[in-house]
Amino acid sequence: MDFDLNEGERDALQTAHDFAERRVKGRAREIDEQNAFPSDLAAEMGRLGLFGLHMPEEYGGTALGYKAYALAIEEICGASMMVGAIIAINALAQESILRFGSDEQKRRYLPTLISGESLSTFAFTEAQTGSDPRAITTVAVPDGDSYVISGEKAFASMAPSACVAVIFAKDDTGKVSAFLVDTSLDGFRIEKELECMGLRGEDVCPVKLDGVRVPRESMLGQPGKGYSVLLTAINVGQLGIAAEAVGVARRALAMSLDYARNRMVRDKPMTDLPTTQSVLGEMAALTEAARWLTYRTADLKDKGRLSAKDASIAKLFASQAANDVVDMAMQVHGSYGYTKELEIERLYRDVKVTQLYEVVSEVHRLIIGASLARES
Ligand SMILES: Cc1cc2nc3c(=O)[nH]c(=O)nc-3n(C[C@H](O)[C@H](O)[C@H](O)COP(=O)(O)OP(=O)(O)OC[C@H]3O[C@@H](n4cnc5c(N)ncnc54)[C@H](O)[C@@H]3O)c2cc1C
Repeated sequence: MDFDLNEGERDALQTAHDFAERRVKGRAREIDEQNAFPSDLAAEMGRLGLFGLHMPEEYGGTALGYKAYALAIEEICGASMMVGAIIAINALAQESILRFGSDEQKRRYLPTLISGESLSTFAFTEAQTGSDPRAITTVAVPDGDSYVISGEKAFASMAPSACVAVIFAKDDTGKVSAFLVDTSLDGFRIEKELECMGLRGEDVCPVKLDGVRVPRESMLGQPGKGYSVLLTAINVGQLGIAAEAVGVARRALAMSLDYARNRMVRDKPMTDLPTTQSVLGEMAALTEAARWLTYRTADLKDKGRLSAKDASIAKLFASQAANDVVDMAMQVHGSYGYTKELEIERLYRDVKVTQLYEVVSEVHRLIIGASLARES
């Protein structure tokens, strides 16, 4: 495998880097404090092509691939995990439509999701279905040329800004199907935003579907095959989350190094202390391992060989590594890191969710282990 970036990937990285430095870094604190979705930054990311790095040119993407997608997320998450995560959230619907949509659905939705003129949400989780997909209770009842969808989704990121939602519901096959639901339809109700500890500004809301009538053509993929849509989409989402984790870990390491170089302990920089060097060494090793594992996973997706096991390994490891690295960064910063004066406490709150959303770490371990057990 060639780890050198090609010209297109280098350009994508540079674009993401410039955007993160120029537009995101200075806004990260305000977004967190105000818990406000940065619509202007999302629109700008669209204009810069950051939603289309992995999308085909015929729909307005640049077809650079999933490595470019991961690099962009990592770079922006170094400035604000919330802003970088927008790319990965939008990618869930994009991937669903690209892999399972009809030509009409692709033409209708992909160009604007790629240009940033519209955004999407992806609502699977319900009160009883975080890790147990069989417990889904939302239903899609056929009625003439339509399906009527009813149920409640517990978490839907970016729902208030989204024009379209991917909704999972049990239909008359008795199995789960995926539907593309325009959020302006009657009965699509976005409930009050959840107050989250981190990733603030992501606009995570419960969504009620109160008899939402959608045309039959709104089904995404085949009847009863919603889990294929879900798994394909979340593998790309999980790759994005691994990249989010790497971006945060890199930032925590850089901040710790900078702090330790400038903090004097008994008239010497903290970096002279063997214990500090040891912590920095551990942080660097974890970060680099997570980083290259994430690139390798993106490379597998580019080559059409990404499995659920690979996506789980990357997300499980990168999220654990990033949580450990941020914890060590907090220790390096001492009590100052615990205050809101410094950024470490935001990183600490943000990074936790990488172990929770799009499959909890415990279930990732089971997916990996079960897959190994099946392999001959
Ligand atoms: C900020 C944020 C944004 C989100 N955005 C979205 C979104 O846009 N769309 C969406 O659909 N969802 C979203 N979610 C929901 C998220 O993906 C789910 O909450 C997640 O899948 C975990 O499900 P749960 O909370 O029900 O945990 P549970 O399944 O209840 O798990 C809780 C704990 O139980 C244990 N556990 C559960 N199952 C097993 C098992 N099989 N084996 C061993 N242990 C187990 C584990 O210790 C686990 O940590 C979001 C969540 C957050 C916090």
